[in-house]
Amino acid sequence: MLAPIRLVTEAAELAAHRHNGMARKGRGSEPYINHLAEVANLLATATDGADAELVAAGWLHDTIEDTDTTREELARRFSDRIASLVAECTDDMSLRKAERRQKQIEDAPHKSPGAKLIKIADKISNIGARIQIDPSAEERDDLADYSGWATQVVAGCRGGNAWLDEKFDDAVKAARALL
Ligand code: ZN
Repeated sequence: MLAPIRLVTEAAELAAHRHNGMARKGRGSEPYINHLAEVANLLATATDGADAELVAAGWLHDTIEDTDTTREELARRFSDRIASLVAECTDDMSLRKAERRQKQIEDAPHKSPGAKLIKIADKISNIGARIQIDPSAEERDDLADYSGWATQVVAGCRGGNAWLDEKFDDAVKAARALL
C-alpha cells in the first residue's frame, strides 16, 4: 500500500479531477472539491491524523456515486478498505430520492465504524453549506428539511467519535438558530 501521506494526496488529486467542474448545493455554489476537503479535514481532525485510509476515503467518498469511478478502481489504486468505505457511502441512484433518504436512515446503524464517521462528517459539511446569513424562505425550508433528515441518519452513526458527534450537534444548533 502507498505511504499514508501519499494515500491522502493521491486521493485528493483523483477526487479533484473526477469532480472537476461540479458545484455543490447551497451557499454560493462553491466548487464540489470544497465539500470533499471539508469532509477529509473533519475526519483527519477527529482521528488526529491517525487513519490515512479514512481521510483518503473522505476525499473519495462521492466518487462512485457522482463520477464514473468504480469500487474496483479504488481498490486497485488505493486499498480494499478505502474502496469498501467509499462503497458503503454510495447511494443506489436507481432509487428515488425519498427512498434513498429512507434507506440511509435504515442502513446507518449497520455501517462499519469508519463509514459512520464519514457519514457524520458529510452531514456536518452539507448542513454548513446550507447555513447562510439572511436565508430566503426556500433556503430556510431546505435547511430545515436537510438538517431534520441528517439528524435521523446521524442517530444511527453516533458513538464512535465524541468530537465529531459534538461538531454535528453544533451544526444542527446553528441551523436551528436560523429557523
Ligand atoms: Zn458528500
